[in-house]
Amino acid sequence: MQNLLDLDLPGLVAFFESLGEKPFRARQVLRWLHQYGADDFYQMTDLAKSLRAKLPEVAEIRPPLLHQEQVSDDGTRKWLLEVGPQNRVETVFIPEAERGTLCVSTQVGCALECAFCSTGRQGFNRNLSVAEIIGQLWWANKAMGRDPKGDRIISNVVLMGMGEPLLNYDNTVTAVSLMLDDHAYGLSKRRVTISTSGIVPAMDRLRAQMPVALAVSLHAPNDALRDQLVPINRKYPLSVLMPACRRYAQDGPRDFITFEYVMLDGINDRPEHAEQLLHLTRDVNCKFNLIPFNPFPDSGFRRSPSETVCRFASQLMGGGKIATTRKTRGDDIDAACGQLAGQVQDKSKRVSSRIEKFMGAV
Ligand code: SAH
Ligand code: SF4
Repeated sequence: MQNLLDLDLPGLVAFFESLGEKPFRARQVLRWLHQYGADDFYQMTDLAKSLRAKLPEVAEIRPPLLHQEQVSDDGTRKWLLEVGPQNRVETVFIPEAERGTLCVSTQVGCALECAFCSTGRQGFNRNLSVAEIIGQLWWANKAMGRDPKGDRIISNVVLMGMGEPLLNYDNTVTAVSLMLDDHAYGLSKRRVTISTSGIVPAMDRLRAQMPVALAVSLHAPNDALRDQLVPINRKYPLSVLMPACRRYAQDGPRDFITFEYVMLDGINDRPEHAEQLLHLTRDVNCKFNLIPFNPFPDSGFRRSPSETVCRFASQLMGGGKIATTRKTRGDDIDAACGQLAGQVQDKSKRVSSRIEKFMGAV
């Protein structure tokens, strides 16, 4: 049984060809699925009756199951989606004056064990399928709907939820192609952002294949500290990561990349760290997004005081870089960056050889 939410336009064209149908059927069905949120073939009134009767025998429309919806005092919403027994992932909608952003998950947990991340603490179970990734946008659009002008409330997507998108490369790219497709969600490449901890070969693949906006989780200005905070740095150190960032900024849809930098009190927030950052990124077109650390139980870290964050940002701006500070949103419902935990049956058992094997797949 083919789940049609697993297919992008080329996939659907191939599927309909295998049924002896014309390629334009794929575009029609794509619109029903993603623009009208159809979950039943009988709603697809412009398909021939015979095709509508045949489809349920060979195909299904199966989004992830919606388990729970929470709404924060500041309007942030979080949906918990079931993706198999005892596995749940989270997706978050963040309303702002000029845009509405959906933060999407790509894996059940994450294998990369960044020291300050709640998802990393959960361990790793598996990659999400295309239907489970795009299903988050599918559900959120159903819930949020359109504004009075008829535009969708969700105008931006960031792949910054649970998991490392570039370690689930194929499914992430197929889901992104649906986000960009005019017959599906029609978002611009500049309004879809992939956030990565720095999987260098996959960054180069993405640049060539599906160049959307890129955010790189830097968090430290030197290898000694980054090895501790973002362990993938041991595989792709700064000397390899920085040239890859430069290449992406040159060819990407925006002429810069964003560096995310979580502000950890007394760890990576001193003036010498800002100085080192300016030196490290001197020939990369980039902006900095400082993220006040969001605490979770037993994290072992504290958030930098806001004066420290301000001073750090001023120092970066004094060095000629743009630096913004991310507003904390939705922390009353544990929906802020790094707080997404869902529910993960950890299969990685924290054996680094498994993690090595997993990373070797890229
Ligand atoms: N795996 C990808 C995307 C998901 S994490 C990545 O690491 O980029 C999204 C962002 O949240 C990353 O920049 C991550 O470093 C940051 N983050 C993780 N834990 C956090 C926490 N406790 N407080 C603030 N930001 C956090
Ligand atoms: Fe994984 Fe990103 Fe969390 Fe690191 S910060 S553990 S890469 S989700």
